[in-house]
Amino acid sequence: MKLDKVLIANRGEIALRILRACRELGIKTVAVHSEADRDLKHVRLADESVCIGPPPSTESYLSIPAIISAAEVTDAVAIHPGYGFLSENADFAERVENSGFIFIGPRAETIRLMGDKITAIEAMKKAGVPTVPGSGGPLDEDGDRTIRLAREIGYPVIIKASGGGGGRGMRVVHSEAALLNAVQMTRSEAAAAFGNDEVYMEKYLETPRHIEFQVLADEHGNVIHLGERDCSMQRRHQKVVEEAPAPGVTEEQRERMGEVVANACREIGYRGAGTFEFLYENGEFYFIEMNTRVQVEHPVTEMVTGVDIVKEQLRIAAGLPLSYRQEDIVLRGHAVECRINAEDARTFLPCPGHISQYHAPGGPGIRVDSHIYNGYTVPPHYDSMIGKLIAWGEDRATAIARMRGALSEIVIDGIRTNIELQRDIMADAAFQRGGTDIHYLEKKLGIG
Ligand code: ADP
Repeated sequence: MKLDKVLIANRGEIALRILRACRELGIKTVAVHSEADRDLKHVRLADESVCIGPPPSTESYLSIPAIISAAEVTDAVAIHPGYGFLSENADFAERVENSGFIFIGPRAETIRLMGDKITAIEAMKKAGVPTVPGSGGPLDEDGDRTIRLAREIGYPVIIKASGGGGGRGMRVVHSEAALLNAVQMTRSEAAAAFGNDEVYMEKYLETPRHIEFQVLADEHGNVIHLGERDCSMQRRHQKVVEEAPAPGVTEEQRERMGEVVANACREIGYRGAGTFEFLYENGEFYFIEMNTRVQVEHPVTEMVTGVDIVKEQLRIAAGLPLSYRQEDIVLRGHAVECRINAEDARTFLPCPGHISQYHAPGGPGIRVDSHIYNGYTVPPHYDSMIGKLIAWGEDRATAIARMRGALSEIVIDGIRTNIELQRDIMADAAFQRGGTDIHYLEKKLGIG
């Protein structure tokens, strides 16, 4: 394989995940880290490591020049961006390629197209992907037009920033009286947060589920889908639990939507791993956005398909064809993932600190994707997620039972975590029945 050395432009569990995939393929690894991250597990395991700057991510993990120089001095061939940080930054992808390295992800123009929600929705519509009824383009300054549009769509509507992400830059509007003010506020927030004041309008779906489809596409025109995940258990638009397959989605629906997203990939010349996110209500799918990178929740798909998504990303970047054809993909059993966060159980505020004791769970069907270890200190500068617990079983009930076992075994002392919350969710009767909507968790927590 021509990828003999990969620089991992990320930290935490996903950096370790990428390192493991590289090792399996005999690829050398370069870890880049901030001054606060010298003790990260993958930094210790990597063949080489480079400190790229001070703790704030703007000066390290988001510093394009620092990362490119690290690739230059270590003679890396390719750069894997992981998720978050620079993973969906088209300028970064472009700079990487222009500097002579392989960007492990789609082409910069694809990232740009899908990174802007309005152009993404337009492209998807054209490719035959069902979208949420909405403005079909940016809202202009004509208030009367906006009011008419909202009447046509029907309240409630949601105003969304075209450049938004991470659950930010959205505002639900229930009545005409609040509409124009909401548009204005979302616009100015979007300008400040994303440097792009374009906003659009969608029908606000009241009790949808979040269901997303995983795809893989190589340089040779081969595209496959790996079925769907249900990520409806959310708090503040942040996923807390994910599972595959989605409860209640039929084989026919999976095949039909899988075909739709695979075709869309062909249409836009997609390359790499990607995810089409949909809201799902009354048996219908509505596209909301595409993520042009590996996702936090990719393990549940790996567990039910047996496909190593990160290894496929590396193979695709090396110019190799996908290891699978669509007919090779057969879903087996069920997988659930619980995100483990270092956070306060009541306030949900991050709780970094020293882990005095850590015991990982185990047993049949249990997978732990985490960079923590005994004596590790969670730095305060980054995301609060410290790992993921994944449970597989031949059916959903078995996967949940195994997850409950794992959650009772795991010990993380010294910092506060959301483990108790995850135990509650796994014991919840509605979750156990399956198919709860995206508001369920907040309602359960009494904040909905
Ligand atoms: P982001 O890029 O910030 O993640 P998304 O467009 O993916 O933004 O939306 C994030 C979440 O916001 C969705 O998972 C869903 O919970 C909610 N949401 C977005 N659009 C709608 C809509 N039209 N109706 C109802 N909820 C929505």
